[in-house]
Amino acid sequence: MMQVTEGKLPEKAQAEIKPTLLAQGYFLACVCYPEHDIVVTLPEKGMGQIVGKVSSIQLLNADILGIRIKPLHAFEYKAGQFINFYKDETTVRSYSLASVPSLDDELCLNVRKIPGGLVSEWIFENLKAGDSVTISEAAGDCFYVPGNTEQNILLIGTGSGLAPLYGIIRDALLNGHTGQIRLYHGSYNSAGLYLVAELRKLVQLHANFSYVPCLSEEAATDGYAQGMVLDVALRDNPNLAGWRIFLCGNPNMVNAAKRETYLSGAAINDIFADPF
Ligand SMILES: Cc1cc2nc3c(=O)[nH]c(=O)nc-3n(C[C@H](O)[C@H](O)[C@H](O)COP(=O)(O)OP(=O)(O)OC[C@H]3O[C@@H](n4cnc5c(N)ncnc54)[C@H](O)[C@@H]3O)c2cc1C
Repeated sequence: MMQVTEGKLPEKAQAEIKPTLLAQGYFLACVCYPEHDIVVTLPEKGMGQIVGKVSSIQLLNADILGIRIKPLHAFEYKAGQFINFYKDETTVRSYSLASVPSLDDELCLNVRKIPGGLVSEWIFENLKAGDSVTISEAAGDCFYVPGNTEQNILLIGTGSGLAPLYGIIRDALLNGHTGQIRLYHGSYNSAGLYLVAELRKLVQLHANFSYVPCLSEEAATDGYAQGMVLDVALRDNPNLAGWRIFLCGNPNMVNAAKRETYLSGAAINDIFADPF
């Protein structure tokens, strides 16, 4: 797979490619017979480094930190993509973008504290507003592609997997998506959830958006569902033929969800996932 930076590709070079890759100009070099001059690059060349300034940090729950970063240079991205965060030259971790380019002035990250984690613990203990940070340009193909606005969308996430989903949902609503947009966010208990008030507000504003927080190890009260997030989502939505699916968070959940949503009818090219 290569990426075009200038010029028009022949259609055949992008046939069968996921819409998110298509939107970024990816194509299959082996079937590309250019009809005009084009300029191409290898995909990994796109991950240049830039400097940003931390504008604010706040706890979203006991284990998840919301970090806002103002890039010091023009920064293009799509909600739901991720950046690489450089603790130092050789210690790098990826974090998803919860922000939406046309709604948010800053890049928003949701970082979960992993006990003993080299970068996440360092961020919790050391990073503060005003600090300069080095990050990469955005990458990844888990984002909303405008169009097909009547298609139903199912989003399933655990823990900080909500970060990309929160961006994707707001981007879809901003683009006038009219199909159902159904979010299922899973946690062991209610203390592990976050952005609950913001998501409930979005539910009030948009009749086609629903939010189901799922608790796997705590009795669910009104407004919450009891059980594993994937089980709840599939029980509520047994037929996913024609749906667009976004899956983020715990790798075991994401991998099982890829399989189960496909078996429930979703097309493989309509399933977008970031396991972490
Ligand atoms: C595309 C992508 C997007 C990501 N987006 C986010 C995001 O939005 N928010 C976020 O918090 N993280 C995200 N991650 C995960 C993040 O990149 C790091 O892996 C995570 O912060 C742990 O790094 P660390 O240096 O703190 O831990 P490390 O020092 O790398 O690991 C310490 C120990 O914790 C274990 N460990 C590592 N990760 C996890 C985990 N997720 N759960 C349980 N144990 C773990 C390791 O196996 C190791 O034993 C993303 C990862 C990818 C690939």
